Amino acid sequence: MTAFTYAPAPERVRPRLRERYGLFIGGRWTAPEDDRFMETINPADETRIADVAYGSTADVDRAVRAARKGYERWSALKPADRAKYVYRIARTITERSRELAVLESLDGGKPIRESRDFDVPASAAHFFYHAGWADKLEWAIRGGASPQPIGVCGQIVPWNFPLLMAAWKMAPALACGNAVVLKPAETTPLTALALAEIIAQADLPPGVVNVVTGDGATGAALVDHAGVDKIAFTGSTEVGKRIARSTAGSGKRLTLELGGKAANVIFADAPMDQAVEGIVQGIYFNQGHVCCAGSRLLVEESVHDEVVDRLTNRIRTLRLGDPLDKNTDIGAINSRVQLDKIRELVHSGIEQGATLVQAECELPARGFFFPASFFTNVHPSHRIAREEIFGPVLSIMTFRTPDEAIEKANNTPYGLSAGVWAAEGSKNMWVAQHLRAGVVWCNTFNKFDPSSPFGGYKESGFGREGGVHGLHEYLTLA
Ligand code: NAP
Ligand code: MG
Repeated sequence: MTAFTYAPAPERVRPRLRERYGLFIGGRWTAPEDDRFMETINPADETRIADVAYGSTADVDRAVRAARKGYERWSALKPADRAKYVYRIARTITERSRELAVLESLDGGKPIRESRDFDVPASAAHFFYHAGWADKLEWAIRGGASPQPIGVCGQIVPWNFPLLMAAWKMAPALACGNAVVLKPAETTPLTALALAEIIAQADLPPGVVNVVTGDGATGAALVDHAGVDKIAFTGSTEVGKRIARSTAGSGKRLTLELGGKAANVIFADAPMDQAVEGIVQGIYFNQGHVCCAGSRLLVEESVHDEVVDRLTNRIRTLRLGDPLDKNTDIGAINSRVQLDKIRELVHSGIEQGATLVQAECELPARGFFFPASFFTNVHPSHRIAREEIFGPVLSIMTFRTPDEAIEKANNTPYGLSAGVWAAEGSKNMWVAQHLRAGVVWCNTFNKFDPSSPFGGYKESGFGREGGVHGLHEYLTLA
């Protein structure tokens, strides 16, 4: 790995930044009621980027009331007219894509190559896809029923894919005729605020989309507000459980996209070059801050040493450094809190007897960084095999038979995603059918499409985002 260098950072596009961001409520930028602001920083150098409003319970209340008014207008529009607005959002994201990519990497630490080639185009694609559904919703429901929107949707997103998670939630909600109050994560509010600007540019009726920045307490105020008809949450299992408890019996609809500890299963006959790239993509993409990351590698015993050798060589070639450098593979860890969590779990792996392999690499003096790493000699009972590390750290285990692979892969409280690598299609399909995971990739990993539903089993949550299944989460037949 090469060390972090500041100059010259190749990406020179200046995003449109304000000193201070208010709340986007009722189609206008407004100051928070108690005039509290918080900083958002660049995790690659710990410098302040901008001040962002801290939304209080009173601000959430204003936003929900504005959303109710917005809902009355939005749900009364002809579906084909709603579609035009959603298309306009998609086109504007595309027009502002370079600026959005820089903003995403600046605020969250992910490599610009990823935000440019994945996050931003995937966000636009989500709006394009759902715009197409807006006037065809009766075809999304079997049995000829007439689907109706739910009402006001509170949407809470995490910091790992800030714009994309907002798009995953907002696009289907709007296409189905709902109004939205979006609460971005505390460390990555800037692309959600840029999305609010785009909503204003697209001239949506006031209140259809509201963005309230803040922290966990702001999110909890949204969850608890009596005027909210549905909560869509993506984040940790711990907070998801809390939300499930506090919405129980309230009549609110709820979808939860929570954590994961995905198995990536490599059979001895797998196409090995591709499999090693798939392992790298599975765990080091976005510094491993990925709910569906292939964080538990299950390798057939006979090829374990070969896979470990290849991976050892491969992680040496990954470049860690400035997220705005187009050559960077591993950017910054999103926050100090997350870096501490990764370090703590890595420490536990060493204490419990696993062997740590890390590429030699000089870390930048400032900012939050962690080198690409993996553990061998991992036992299924180790914390690093059970808990979500949410960092660039892979835990490698072995198996001897397909049955053992399935048993080990399913031995987790989570069930979000999994990967299988084998030469034979029939073996891939057989294993995929037996894995209890919402998404199973065969001979590939971390591939997404707006038409493909995404979501979990067990402690990874319930409900689906994307595709026809995702539309059902924003419609009612009542
Ligand atoms: P988190 O702490 O659960 O936070 C997620 C969001 O919820 C943030 O906006 C957070 O606000 C807010 N929040 C915190 N406490 C809340 C409360 N009591 N009530 C309502 N909202 C609250 O998760 P995170 O650490 O940001 O994100 C990482 C987690 O997300 C990982 O576990 C990952 O697996 C999961 N994830 C899942 C998916 C999926 O699709 N299944 C996708 C991406 C990530 P603040 O950040 O401002 O505190
Ligand atoms: Mg930030």
